[in-house]
Amino acid sequence: MGSPGTALVVGGGIGGLAAALGLRRVGWQVTVLERAARFAEVGAGLSLWPNALRALDELGVGAPVRAAGVSAVSRGGLRLPSGAWLRHARADDVHVLMVHRAELHAAMRAPLPAGSLRPGATVTSVDLAAGTVTYQQGGDTRQCGADLVVGADGLHSMVRQAMWPGHEPRFDGRAVWRAVVAGGAPRIEASITLGADRQFGVLPLPGDAAYWFLTAPAAEPDQRCADERAAVADRVAGWHAPIGELLAATTPGSVLHHDLYALDPVPGFARGRAVLLGDAAHAQTPDLGQGACQAIEDGVVLAAAVAAHGDLATAIGSYDRQRRPRTQLVARAAARQAELNVTHHRAVTRLARIIPPPLWRRQAARFTDWIPPALPGTVASTVDD
Ligand SMILES: Cc1cc2nc3c(=O)[nH]c(=O)nc-3n(C[C@H](O)[C@H](O)[C@H](O)COP(=O)(O)OP(=O)(O)OC[C@H]3O[C@@H](n4cnc5c(N)ncnc54)[C@H](O)[C@@H]3O)c2cc1C
Repeated sequence: MGSPGTALVVGGGIGGLAAALGLRRVGWQVTVLERAARFAEVGAGLSLWPNALRALDELGVGAPVRAAGVSAVSRGGLRLPSGAWLRHARADDVHVLMVHRAELHAAMRAPLPAGSLRPGATVTSVDLAAGTVTYQQGGDTRQCGADLVVGADGLHSMVRQAMWPGHEPRFDGRAVWRAVVAGGAPRIEASITLGADRQFGVLPLPGDAAYWFLTAPAAEPDQRCADERAAVADRVAGWHAPIGELLAATTPGSVLHHDLYALDPVPGFARGRAVLLGDAAHAQTPDLGQGACQAIEDGVVLAAAVAAHGDLATAIGSYDRQRRPRTQLVARAAARQAELNVTHHRAVTRLARIIPPPLWRRQAARFTDWIPPALPGTVASTVDD
């Protein structure tokens, strides 16, 4: 087992916090540099599959995250815009935990000492070989170094640019709108409604709240609408209840509108004294709801690797070998699912009616059966699925 070292984590999103929790659990000193003025997550709901819940158990935050969420079947209930059900969710489908992103982030942040979180720190360059970063904070330019630099700085990662210059994410031709309807939302049954080229999903959140999303084609990125809620209503005009009620109950200014991007496979997750993790390493479209789950897995595997190997190069080589094939497989599967939904809509709706439940479950479970490595000193996983 390696002796504990020091790490600088660039980015304090879900991936960065997973890395920080894991590395601290194996005795490392960790500093998280986050460009935002405070550590928080905006955004709406998030589905956590059993693979991520097991990983969160290993990071020591499984219980508070479960307490903040509600169990649901994601991608089990499928409807047509008329309201006809192609398939109802079943009790033996794979369940997800639905949480608000802000609640997940808060539960992951809680065990980290305030001194290890450095908000308002924008990293501007990284020296991969030396393990040093330069960052701007409060108008000053500063530098710091560590044994390991973790690039958890998301889709447009600066650390990835240093590692693989020119390797940029690709616009996938769709936009997504999302919102949370706070307590007292219309009663919903978790479902995704499959239009010819667009999908509207609705999932429960704790406290009678609901999370909805719409994915739809977009000719080009960065098109924003003066009234985002009305833009959604236009795109699903005439669709079944309770979509209209949900939109009416949504605070207009709370609707988030983003473009969807995916990253082509990068040649490696490790170079010099740095690793990539989360969206920085394997950003994918949300069609399988696995992006954050994979980032959380990354954090556990990285911690286990540095705990198991005395030599940093061996440790991060092991992290790369374990994480690259799996995350790139999941990202490819998400891209295939997107293509199926958008260009093979009729086949998808036919299949949804006839696929037998065990096969459906096996399909959903192909990425969720993952078991995390045990981190020294943690208790065994407690997930039930
Ligand atoms: C519509 C949609 C729905 C999704 N639904 C799900 C789902 O249900 N389940 C799921 O598992 N995944 C889902 N995902 C994917 C998930 O949101 C991402 O995979 C996950 O949030 C990635 O986390 P991250 O920490 O790697 O990156 P980010 O969340 O992007 O965090 C990166 C952080 O780094 C900071 N940063 C960036 N640059 C710098 C810098 N230079 N210096 C300092 N800080 C910096 C940023 O401010 C940010 O806080 C969804 C994605 C989308 C778009």
